[in-house]
Amino acid sequence: MKILSYKKASDIEEKYLSSLVDLEIECWWQKPFDEYKICSNPECKAVFAIEDIYENLKNYRNRIDNTISENFKCLDCDSKTEFIYEKNEFLEIIKEYIKWEVSRVLLIDEPEKVEWFWVLSKDTLENIINYEFATRPNSYDKDKLLKELSQKLFWIEDVRNEKVALLHQIYVWTEYRWKWYWKEILKNILKNIGEENISVILETRYDSEFFSMTKSMWFNDLINDKYWYIIQYISWNNNYFQFSKINNLFQNISDKFQFYKKESLKILLSNEKFSFRKYYI
Ligand SMILES: [Zn+2]
Repeated sequence: MKILSYKKASDIEEKYLSSLVDLEIECWWQKPFDEYKICSNPECKAVFAIEDIYENLKNYRNRIDNTISENFKCLDCDSKTEFIYEKNEFLEIIKEYIKWEVSRVLLIDEPEKVEWFWVLSKDTLENIINYEFATRPNSYDKDKLLKELSQKLFWIEDVRNEKVALLHQIYVWTEYRWKWYWKEILKNILKNIGEENISVILETRYDSEFFSMTKSMWFNDLINDKYWYIIQYISWNNNYFQFSKINNLFQNISDKFQFYKKESLKILLSNEKFSFRKYYI
């Protein structure tokens, strides 16, 4: 097992890139994101997680043939369903994407399987809102989001061209969660942020493990969309990410994590919509 950190993601070797894309796609396939298959009926457009078909990702990895998922019918209207991600297309998108200011930390299970990744990108507030937070139909009101993020991060109404860091695409293969190396990986990515004065934003869900972790790291909630994704932020002026303070960050993180886990459960229990199926219409 080894941790590889790329300040410039464009330096990632080709052999890891393909494996990384497999893992990125697996990440989006799973609950709570549910982007494995989509109903082809334009009136319905229900999305389904890999767990709806294989129960868990491990079963998918051990599958013998693909006919079960290929023939999977919409559970609502019985129409046929389509795959949301296509590997080669996604790989080409990633190859283009990493030419920008993107950093990644990968955990490699020898010989060359990527099982964990963190991605940090730097871009203008406007680009992040338009291209990173606008991936689902009728998600956020972009003008409102720009205004609110500008106010929270820079205390003025519209700073669309200011650069911020986007901490995103964080994923760990289930069998490697909560092992010793998560702190090392987290330190690694935070060091990257801590080296410069830059505000950080991210998008997660209340029902993602990551919600409790980012709350433990003092991220603030801003706004959620109709699919229950939530934008969080931390302004560089708060200075929590100074590298010298990162070790302190971990001192009580387990207790804080448990606290916010309970908080997120309360939010989930008081919003029954979280358990409803998502429709991309
Ligand atoms: Zn349907």
